[in-house]
Amino acid sequence: SLLNRNMADPRAEPTFLAVKPDGVQRGLVGEIISRFRKLGYQLVAGKFVWPSKDLLHDHYAELSSKPFFPGLIEYMSSGPVFAMVWEGTDVVSVGRKTIGATNPRKSPIGTIRGDLAIDVGRNICYGSESVGTAEREIALWFTTDEVASYDLARRIGFIKKN
Ligand code: GDP
Repeated sequence: SLLNRNMADPRAEPTFLAVKPDGVQRGLVGEIISRFRKLGYQLVAGKFVWPSKDLLHDHYAELSSKPFFPGLIEYMSSGPVFAMVWEGTDVVSVGRKTIGATNPRKSPIGTIRGDLAIDVGRNICYGSESVGTAEREIALWFTTDEVASYDLARRIGFIKKN
């Protein structure tokens, strides 16, 4: 299992994040990585993938009956996405908060979507909604050997543990 690989912190968990094709084309990969890294989270896997429709049907299986589903598949398969695995304490819920609401115009200023997007159909990034879906999505997008295991230096006074 890719869960709880960081045994030093029992609350550490993984999430799957992706910069969508519009985010890649708009040059936002670095900005999105930077926001998560500055929060204190750890990037353990990252790669460009031009996703097949099969992969996207699997990834978005729960949305297959929605009216916007065909458009979503066209959008997500229109170019490469930057797929990532991040780890840390509560990274799933903090990640969703950091990304913001599905509709960028309803997403608060300060969130990635609220600051950088305006269209629900071009909302630049994706983040898993639970630890369970994160584990499924990481297995869907990555092989185990693509996920790095390494410790960040934790010096007393730099990184506070509560
Ligand atoms: P997310 O978890 O915030 O990404 O939202 P959902 O899982 O509900 O939807 C997945 C993706 O489908 C969203 O990020 C949007 O890109 C797209 N989407 C959701 N709702 C709509 C909608 O009402 N219209 C359109 N065009 N796209 C939508």
